[in-house]
Amino acid sequence: MFQKLKKRVRVITNMRTLMKNKFYFLVLTLTIIISGCNNSDQEKVSEESITSGSKSIGQINDSRILSAESEPGNWLAYGRTYEEQRFSPLKQINKETITDLGLVWSKDMGTNRALEATPIVVDGIMFFTSTWSRVYAVDALTGETIWKFDPEVPGEWARKACCDIVNRGVAVYNGKVFSASLDGRLFALNAETGEKVWEVDTIIDRTRAYTITGAPRVAKGKVYIGNGGAEYGVRGYVTAYNSESGEQEWRFYTVPGNPDLGFEDPAMEMAAKTWKGTNWWEFGGGGTVWNSIVFDPDFNNIYLGVGNGSPWTREIRSPGGGDNLFLSSIVAVDADTGVYKWHYQTTPEDNWDYTAVQDMSLADMEIDGEMKKVLLQAPKNGFFYVIDREDGKVLRAHPFAAVTWATHVDLETGRPVENPEVDYSDNGAWVLPGPLGAHNWQAMSIDIDAGLAYIPTQENPFFYAIQEDYKKTGVYKRNPGRWNMGIEMSSLAQNILNNLESQPKPGGFLKAFDPLTGETKWSVPIPHYWNGGVLGTAGGLVFQGDALGMFSAYDKETGERLWEFNTYTSMLAPPITFEIDGEQYVSILTGSGGGDMFGGEPLPPIEVQASLTYNNFGRMLTFKLGGEKTLPIPNVRDKTIPEQQLMQVSIDQMQNGESNYNDYCAVCHGFVVKSAGGIPDLRKMTAGTHDAFNQIVLEGLLASNGMASFADVLSEQEVENIHHYVKARAHEDREVALGNMEAPQFTWFGQEEE
Ligand code: CA
Repeated sequence: MFQKLKKRVRVITNMRTLMKNKFYFLVLTLTIIISGCNNSDQEKVSEESITSGSKSIGQINDSRILSAESEPGNWLAYGRTYEEQRFSPLKQINKETITDLGLVWSKDMGTNRALEATPIVVDGIMFFTSTWSRVYAVDALTGETIWKFDPEVPGEWARKACCDIVNRGVAVYNGKVFSASLDGRLFALNAETGEKVWEVDTIIDRTRAYTITGAPRVAKGKVYIGNGGAEYGVRGYVTAYNSESGEQEWRFYTVPGNPDLGFEDPAMEMAAKTWKGTNWWEFGGGGTVWNSIVFDPDFNNIYLGVGNGSPWTREIRSPGGGDNLFLSSIVAVDADTGVYKWHYQTTPEDNWDYTAVQDMSLADMEIDGEMKKVLLQAPKNGFFYVIDREDGKVLRAHPFAAVTWATHVDLETGRPVENPEVDYSDNGAWVLPGPLGAHNWQAMSIDIDAGLAYIPTQENPFFYAIQEDYKKTGVYKRNPGRWNMGIEMSSLAQNILNNLESQPKPGGFLKAFDPLTGETKWSVPIPHYWNGGVLGTAGGLVFQGDALGMFSAYDKETGERLWEFNTYTSMLAPPITFEIDGEQYVSILTGSGGGDMFGGEPLPPIEVQASLTYNNFGRMLTFKLGGEKTLPIPNVRDKTIPEQQLMQVSIDQMQNGESNYNDYCAVCHGFVVKSAGGIPDLRKMTAGTHDAFNQIVLEGLLASNGMASFADVLSEQEVENIHHYVKARAHEDREVALGNMEAPQFTWFGQEEE
């Protein structure tokens, strides 16, 4: 059979024997955003504005949320309170009662794509988002829909999103529900009816790939929202809108634009001095604030978690060096005016996609004998930062996971000390963490009494190498239709094969970590790296949903697993807890994907995620003591890869197909054509899909699902070559499954054999 393949596909076989069970993968993550000129006229408040919210539902005002600790039965904001510690005082569900915890309702969200939202629960109503930025208000006791709002995101916009059609939730304030859509619009909805009160376009340049997946935050009569798109080449910023009218109150850019056009504020003038080269602003710069925005009532600050550079590689982004402010930084601005106050840059000269957008928590902690008001963050780069909120000074920066890019953070200078051994400027190198980070957006929980952070961590190496075209020509071409990282993607499979011996072993861990001492109190290994957010409770429990489909409660003292519930689908979303009529509930959304779609189906020893074993079932699950509902046990997915109609093609064609597949398709359909679950696995295309392949890729036949046309960047011949490559990969995996081949080659470069 393999002979047949070689004859028919005439590809490569330099027969490198793959060390089976050793070809694990790395992962990739991404974010997004925009860029463009700073012209606020482009935002206009919708004329059909009604002007009020509900008078009775969703009545969260400043004083109510400031005293959120006095009503632990509600979950009033993204991280529960303004401190965003995600640690609940509720304890009816505790170490003793946990064995009685059971499902009380399940709501099918009608999607098999990733769900990432944190629900808000206020006065018996739960507000959350699903795929395509759809908003739901449901009865928190039953899951029955009260209203639903669909912003009708154009399907084609999904192509601008690095990490699927996800959304992380809403804010509720003064009778209104605030939500943002994938295509960059911000909505105020009547909390009682779901009717639109106002709508505003937050995007400054709709020709760039800006998206929004994050939850808005609201405080002091303002709604704060950022965006994503750094991988595609955008300029990051955050905007504050009046919560009643939708009028823009202020905007803060996170990276400078073209200096010839003048700076928006002194902070941008300062930042521009840290960028080098002649046209760095044309790439957009990146620095998108796609996840964490936190209000601090103690200092009247808004903290912005700023993302990575565009492109990733500093040599291309800012030739000649420079810290590139405010990439990978935490920036404090005045909540009322948006005026810069201080910043702390976690990764100066970011070279690895080390966003600092991960959730930030606020706390009062005794440090070196003194009470300090601190900000806590575990960003992608693997160091856990404890930062003084008064002035932005870093007080602690211990590694919380395996880190090879830097040896340590020098607390005197506040700067990391890079490790020259993994410098990839000349030769590619494995680096930890990879672009998915040691910790991503999946929330951690802060247990102040125990002095611990419960963190979903990962150890995911990536093989970083500078793009070969750029190395050869010294010219970097930005392509608005795809990721622009400056990283070699076309030969990634080959680079990995060539460097298997030195690949660090990937894995996932739930850790109890002391941010002051750097000690790990306990660590639970999870046999897949891409797991869900975390909730800690005064009941002595840490809740987490994982990639294998288990929703678990761990003893917060020891990490012992005390309870588990098989949801048969992988999870990313963080659980929350609330109380109604004296009964405590725990809720979580199921369904995975997001930033790990590129990673696709893992190779041993990483265990296959539940979403691939069964399916990706998008559901909201709610539990309480005595709950007795069950979920249907799904069939195991048929993994059979159909026989492929292969054609004789040249090596050049196959290489071209692989290269373009990696550049345009892999981000969603998975590296080496192995899907992660939610997005169709191209190895299993039906005859009908094969027939319609060109129509789908070039004419947008499935645009409403998010599979937009690529006619702007791919020719008919290139699409044909991609099709050949996909079929050849499918055939290879089929042969392995049938026992006709020992292991797939994963690469089509090498010597042609007759
Ligand atoms: Ca990124």
